Amino acid sequence: MTTSLAYGTVWFVGAGPGDPDLLTVKGRDLIARAGAILFAGSLVNEAATRWAPASCEIADSKDMTLGDISSWLIAQAARHETVIRLQTGDPALYGTLIEVVQPLDAAGVPLRVVPGVSSAMASAAAAVESFTLPEVTQTTIFTRVEGRTPMPEGESLPELASHHCTLCIFLSITLLHKVEAGLREAGWAEDSPMLVVHKASWPGEELIVRGTLADIKQRCRDAGIVSQAMVIASPTLGARQWPNLTKSKLYDASFTHRFRRASTPKEAP
Ligand code: SAH
Repeated sequence: MTTSLAYGTVWFVGAGPGDPDLLTVKGRDLIARAGAILFAGSLVNEAATRWAPASCEIADSKDMTLGDISSWLIAQAARHETVIRLQTGDPALYGTLIEVVQPLDAAGVPLRVVPGVSSAMASAAAAVESFTLPEVTQTTIFTRVEGRTPMPEGESLPELASHHCTLCIFLSITLLHKVEAGLREAGWAEDSPMLVVHKASWPGEELIVRGTLADIKQRCRDAGIVSQAMVIASPTLGARQWPNLTKSKLYDASFTHRFRRASTPKEAP
């Protein structure tokens, strides 16, 4: 507890994708000395309760409005040195970071952000996939399809998918028909590989569904996946089995870079 009138710091901490062990060391250390923690729904409560001190006030924000959330954090920051807003994955993706930061700024409450492992990365890890491969794609787009939140101009799935790069599609498992329509409109072939990971990293609950543009919806239906899933479309999917992979230049023996001289010197491309 602080004795001065000054506010403690509110830390926005990325809790990671579900496995409590995927919280960062920094996040865990902050939780271990937190006076109060507000977590976002069932996804992250285990990380909070596992390391929080017994005296810590822990609350769930699932029934709170954004106004309630900022008021709660400000009130706790008046009483505690360390207050935590625990969010799934990374706080910079599809959270309410800025909406909550603004009232805190207005109240003069100091705040910091600790990044977390996004579910997009946990999904790649679960399936042993790489979002980038030399000469296949060097670009990954994090997006969603339009639900209640409208997509800004130029960001419709057909427009984004026209790049034929990796697409990590959040918040869209119940809108797979829109995902499919968007990819088709952008010219993706029916046999384009697709991946859906449900509860990536959750011990004992993770589900990996592989399919193609033609059948991924049916496969997800068969697996009973209706929530908490990452939809990935990418020309890199399944590369683990490719016999003729173009190797990264970085480890090519003939490629000189900052840290290693080529065995047979050649100019870098
Ligand atoms: N900030 C979070 C995203 C929050 S939006 C992050 O960085 O991961 C919520 C969406 O994230 C869900 O609809 C789902 O698409 C995805 N998601 C969150 N946790 C997930 C998990 N463990 N496995 C798969 N997808 C997940």
